Amino acid sequence: MSGLPSGLNWKTTHVEKILRKILLYLSSAGWARYLAMRLPVARRVARRFVAGETLPEAIEVVQSLRREGFLVSLDLLGENVDGLGEAEKAVEEVLEAVRALKELELECNISVKLTQLGLDADYDATERHLRTIAEEIVGSPRPIRLRVDMEGSEYTETTVNMVASVHRDYDFLATVLQAYLFRTVDDVYRANQEKIAIRLCKGAYAESPQVAFQEKKAVDESYLRLAEDLLANGSYPAFATHDEAMIQGILEIVERLGLGPEDFEFQMLFGIRQDRQRSLMDEGWRVRLYVPYGRSWYPYFMRRLAERPANLQFFATALFKG
Ligand SMILES: Cc1cc2nc3c(=O)[nH]c(=O)nc-3n(C[C@H](O)[C@H](O)[C@H](O)COP(=O)(O)OP(=O)(O)OC[C@H]3O[C@@H](n4cnc5c(N)ncnc54)[C@H](O)[C@@H]3O)c2cc1C
Repeated sequence: MSGLPSGLNWKTTHVEKILRKILLYLSSAGWARYLAMRLPVARRVARRFVAGETLPEAIEVVQSLRREGFLVSLDLLGENVDGLGEAEKAVEEVLEAVRALKELELECNISVKLTQLGLDADYDATERHLRTIAEEIVGSPRPIRLRVDMEGSEYTETTVNMVASVHRDYDFLATVLQAYLFRTVDDVYRANQEKIAIRLCKGAYAESPQVAFQEKKAVDESYLRLAEDLLANGSYPAFATHDEAMIQGILEIVERLGLGPEDFEFQMLFGIRQDRQRSLMDEGWRVRLYVPYGRSWYPYFMRRLAERPANLQFFATALFKG
């Protein structure tokens, strides 16, 4: 029997793969970003996944999600900024967000990206920026975890090293590891040793076969192996996935290890699988929603479309409605 699914099914999978590649290319193409950001329909559709362009809009969304019982992580959009000037502006905006959370006594995590803090320009300045944000969090009336998102594999080594260094002074610093990378098994081991809290995701970037699993089956198997290691040996892991098979796999491991809802959390993206977000919470599990906001919504929005090209249909419908 051939290993390939037959007929229409194979064609659909193949078309999806090509679409995903095109969307990932467009997510980092400057000309496409320029056009999309000037297109009112694109801004409107992006609002399904993005809480708004300003901090007050985002805080309103955080407050409403907290009232519903969700945990939240706030993310100022932006990555690969142009030089340290732009990075300093981003740091100032993140500091404003931390101050607002403190003032409102809102329990909410913060996610940042190192290339947003200047990593493409200057390693030391980036670490200083990360420390400045961490220092602002110290003394918050409600717990705030600061999490460094994981970007493309060219940044993985730097990210895990910088997080380990800053974590020695700020134990609420956490990061993300991606199940599609071959190296992640070693990174999970190291994070467990150093008691660094990990969010495990599959990975959202186009990576080569030299560094990453290419097939969904292999990525899924890696995800569940790593999830088990994190649940057995890690520090309060977070499982970022919308995939029902991963959710069920994690719940089986949790049961087998005799763990409970206080030992880990699920994380999902704002606007994606809202019914499942609520039903998991109703079943008694902790669910944190990742709430992005800011003017740099374009690459984030395109990666969400690439993850599920079916969402393009939603975009096309809005386009034709005008
Ligand atoms: C909270 C959070 C934080 C993240 N942080 C990072 C990060 O720091 N670095 C990084 O590289 N990646 C990050 N990601 C993205 C992640 O790596 C994946 O690209 C993304 O979550 C898609 O993988 P999946 O596990 O949801 O399942 P997939 O294998 O992509 O999809 C499996 C199933 O899940 C459902 N589903 C998935 N996506 C959608 C969607 N957009 N709309 C509707 N249904 C969908 C569908 O039923 C689909 O068949 C994060 C994801 C989340 C949820």
